[in-house]
Amino acid sequence: RKSVVRITTGSQALDELLGGGIETLCITEAFGEFRSGKTQLAHTLCVSTQLPIHMHGGNGKVAYIDTEGTFRPERIVPIAERFGMDANAVLDNIIYARAYTYEHQYNLLLGLAAKMAEEPFRLLIVDSVIALFRVDFSGRGELAERQQKLAQMLSRLTKIAEEFNVAVYITNQVIADPGGGMFISDPKKPAGGHVLAHAATIRLMLRKGKGEQRVCKIFDAPNLPEGEHVFQVTSGGIMD
Ligand code: ADP
Ligand code: MG
Repeated sequence: RKSVVRITTGSQALDELLGGGIETLCITEAFGEFRSGKTQLAHTLCVSTQLPIHMHGGNGKVAYIDTEGTFRPERIVPIAERFGMDANAVLDNIIYARAYTYEHQYNLLLGLAAKMAEEPFRLLIVDSVIALFRVDFSGRGELAERQQKLAQMLSRLTKIAEEFNVAVYITNQVIADPGGGMFISDPKKPAGGHVLAHAATIRLMLRKGKGEQRVCKIFDAPNLPEGEHVFQVTSGGIMD
């Protein structure tokens, strides 16, 4: 049996919430409004995954599937410096791919899985996992097919996590909750319905706080402690 590796988020508070960091062998989802820090956390994990195990890293490479064109290699430089790593070496160990359709996204996953069989990867990022599905299946009556294809993609992600002992970090959007309304203080919920709820082992709900502060809460996990944890987005990445 493969043993789980925990990768630091850069924030001790967030790591504690997660029991040490984001875990290999499963899917961690972050959802939240625009600018809540989902992509910045992805950038930080790109670096921290490459730290040695004794520094709470994963000692492995990173695969990054970007569906929104928001990956910034120049952001990696100050984050690598913050962790005392060589930025060029860190960048060389991030295998980046931009996806343009949900099918393209799926095919990229297959290609990356082949690469993972040959090289030691420890993290797979899909930012955002759902954006292309919402574009490619935007018509009336296409929801059932979208959910079916989304389930297929998520099942592939789970297989990759288990086969190669990698952490999978996916981001998701929030949508208006039609069941919400005037009596519910935050009528927003993650997109993707029960298909995504079922696939993600840990669901992190992010929101903006004051200034550079962000607030993270574990969503919908009755067996985990409640509570909000505050972190910051800085030029060096996610921090306390
Ligand atoms: P999203 O949840 O939409 O993916 P992001 O992770 O892209 O959000 O977060 C964007 C926010 O991160 C910006 O609004 C800004 O506050 C912060 N940010 C981005 N780059 C830096 C930086 N170099 N220094 C400090 N904060 C930054
Ligand atoms: Mg983003």
